[in-house]
Amino acid sequence: MNILIEGIDILTADPTSEYKRNADIGIINGIISFITPSGRIPPEFKADKKLSGLKKLAMPGLVNAHTHCGMTAMRNSADDLSLQKWLFERIFPIEEKMTDEDVYWSTLLGAAEMIRSGTTAFADMYLHMDHAAEAVCETGLRANLSRSPIDFHNDGGLKAVDAFDKCRDYFRNWNGNAEDKIKVYVEVHSTYLMDIESLKKAADLAAELRTGIHIHLLETASERKDSLEKYGKSPVEICKDTGIFNVPVIGAHLVHVSGDDINILGAAGVNAIHNPTSNLKLGSGISPVPALLDAGINVALGTDGVASNNNLNMFEEMHLAALIHKGVAQNPELVTARQAFRMATVNGAKALGFGNDTGMIKVGMKADIILLDIDKPHLHPMNDPHSAVVYSAQGADVHTVIVNGAILMENRELKTIDEEKVKFKVNSISERLFDVL
Ligand SMILES: [Zn+2]
Repeated sequence: MNILIEGIDILTADPTSEYKRNADIGIINGIISFITPSGRIPPEFKADKKLSGLKKLAMPGLVNAHTHCGMTAMRNSADDLSLQKWLFERIFPIEEKMTDEDVYWSTLLGAAEMIRSGTTAFADMYLHMDHAAEAVCETGLRANLSRSPIDFHNDGGLKAVDAFDKCRDYFRNWNGNAEDKIKVYVEVHSTYLMDIESLKKAADLAAELRTGIHIHLLETASERKDSLEKYGKSPVEICKDTGIFNVPVIGAHLVHVSGDDINILGAAGVNAIHNPTSNLKLGSGISPVPALLDAGINVALGTDGVASNNNLNMFEEMHLAALIHKGVAQNPELVTARQAFRMATVNGAKALGFGNDTGMIKVGMKADIILLDIDKPHLHPMNDPHSAVVYSAQGADVHTVIVNGAILMENRELKTIDEEKVKFKVNSISERLFDVL
C-alpha cells in the first residue's frame, strides 16, 4: 500500500537533518520513498491512503528495548517488594501456573498498550515464547524475541532443564518471520540463573545461529556481590570469558557496573538498556548512564515487564531517563532531551539489530512512524521539538502508528487487536493466576 502523509513537521532522529517542517512523506511498500516539501511529491506517485499532518508531529516509532510482554496479567500484583522476594517468592510461583494461552493473550494486551503509547518495536524475553510470537505476528509490531536454552521449574527450588534443541527450533521457526519483522535472539536470563557451562553453550549456540543474546546484567548490588564471591569475577567479566560478548548483546539494566566493566562493555560493543522505572521501583539503583554514554556505548531504553513498572509506556521512560541523572549528579546538563529521544528511537533500533532499516525517518528506511497529536495545551507552544517530545508529551498523544508501512492505529483506533476481547481474557487469566474470587 502507498501512503502519503501530507504537510507534517518531522522529528527525524537523523543527525544530518533533525527537524523538517511542512513536509510530505511518501511510503511505498513499507519503505519511506520520499520526503519532500509539502505539495512537491513526485508526479508518478499515487497514494492509496492519505494521512493529514495538520497539527501533528511525525517521529520514528519508539523502541522498547527490554520487556516481558507476557507478564501483563501480573500488573499491579507484586509491588513494593525487593527483587529477590519479588522474583523468587512472588513471580516464579505464579509463572509455574502460566499456560501457552496465558502468554498469548498477555502479549496481545501488552502489544495494545505499546501501540497506544507509540512503540513500534520491542525486545522481549519470556516463557511460552512460541505463543508470544504468534501474538506478535497478529499485531503487526516489529520484535526481537528470545527464548532460553534452559527451562526453569520452581520445584521446591529452581530446577534447570536443558532446552537447547527447543531454542534452535524456535530460531528456525520464527527468525525472519512476519515479513522479516521478527528477529530471534538467544535468551540468557542472567549469569546467576545459569552455570558457567550453560553460559558457554548458550554463547556457542548464538554464534552457530549467527544471532545475538538478550541478557539481564548487573541489575542489583547483590548480583555483583554474589558473583564476585562465587567466581571472583563480575557478571560482565563472566560474559566476556564465556563468549557471550562475542555476539551482538542486548544487556538489560547495567546498574552496578564498575569502571572495568564499562571498558569491557565498550570494547565488546554491548548495547546497554536503561530501565529507569523498573530499577527505581525495585530499589535496585540507578544505572550510570552518563558514564556509559561517555564510553561510547549504545544506550537504549526499556520498560521491563509490567510487574516491575507497571506499564509499557516508553514516553515515561524517555522522560525519566532525561531527569534522574541530572538529579543524581546535581548537573542539569546530563542526558539531554535529544539524547533521551535518540535512546528511545535510533539507539533502540540499533540495539534490537534493526538499526540498518529502522529508527529514523529517512528515505530508504522502513516506515515505522508515529504521529503525535500536538494540538494539546501541554504541547503549546512547541518551541524545541525534542524538549516537547521528552518533557511535555504523553503516551496518549500518539494519534497514528505505522509499522513497516502498515497502519496499526489511526486516530487512536487499533486496527489489528480486538482490545475489548483481550482485556476481558487477561482479566480472567489474572483472576485464575492469583486465585482471586
Ligand atoms: Zn527484565
